[in-house]
Amino acid sequence: MKYIYGPVPSRRLGYSLGIDPIPPKTCNYQCIYCQLGKTTNFTNSRKNYYPKNDIIAEMEQILKLNDNEIDYITFVGSGEPTLYKDLEELILKAKELSKKPVCVITNGSLLFQEDVQSSLMYSDLVIPSFDAGDEKLFKKINRPHPSINFTNLIQGLTNFKEIFEGQFWVEVMIMKGINDSKEELFKIKRNLDLINPDKIDINVPIRPPVEDWVKIPHVSIISILDEVFEDYSNINYPEKGKFSIHSTNFEKELLAILERHPMRQNQIIETFSSSIFNKERIISELENLSTKKKIKKIIYNEQIFWKIHID
Ligand code: SF4
Repeated sequence: MKYIYGPVPSRRLGYSLGIDPIPPKTCNYQCIYCQLGKTTNFTNSRKNYYPKNDIIAEMEQILKLNDNEIDYITFVGSGEPTLYKDLEELILKAKELSKKPVCVITNGSLLFQEDVQSSLMYSDLVIPSFDAGDEKLFKKINRPHPSINFTNLIQGLTNFKEIFEGQFWVEVMIMKGINDSKEELFKIKRNLDLINPDKIDINVPIRPPVEDWVKIPHVSIISILDEVFEDYSNINYPEKGKFSIHSTNFEKELLAILERHPMRQNQIIETFSSSIFNKERIISELENLSTKKKIKKIIYNEQIFWKIHID
């Protein structure tokens, strides 16, 4: 099959049958974290990159076979799906052939255009990405086509959410040293407040990114995420194990957490353990910091806690 793959199990969508109407790496972004490699066809032109009738012929064949085994039909793949000009017709065809909900995973860059908005109107779920809180970081992370700007991106996401009757979930990719500071996360949050998505999924680059300097944030970022998004109930974080646990600066990272709240010793061990930084080493580092009067051990409810040392 050329355009349809799966069904593949997905954490969010159950079993999802993928429809990919765009040739490999045809995109209007060149994201630093893209797992598909370099954007080889960097374009913002909407057109039918493959013959529509060929895609529909495959859909007719495959959807009949798989309808009972899937939870979602998902337009996604090797490039940006909203660049397919007749996407609306493909979505309507999927709805005609199957009773399963239709999802579109998009970078969201063209949602400000009326033709793109109307092409997604018949889908049940739209999942755009949103990784930066301002134009400067947007350009650094997503490296968009010159005809795309941050103002239009925000306007598109906000307007579309207002008129769309289906579910609208936003994905945010967090990368070490790029957008994982409290300041950048607050900027992202302020924009998410405007967009008002039904759900937010925080991701980290667990698959090899196109740029090898893109790294997974350290697990200690969870406490910053908790602080920034404390008033959000519709947010999902990756499982703890997906974050980096290799501590390059144990003292700095631990103090950053303890400045916000005390931590159980077991939690500290769980957070900072790695193959080269084991339980004994962590306890010895804690005792060391205590001797330096940087942190203080307390026993509470029969458990060992560590808190910041204040004279
Ligand atoms: S929008 Fe998606 S396909 Fe395009 S560069 Fe970014 S991650 Fe890759």
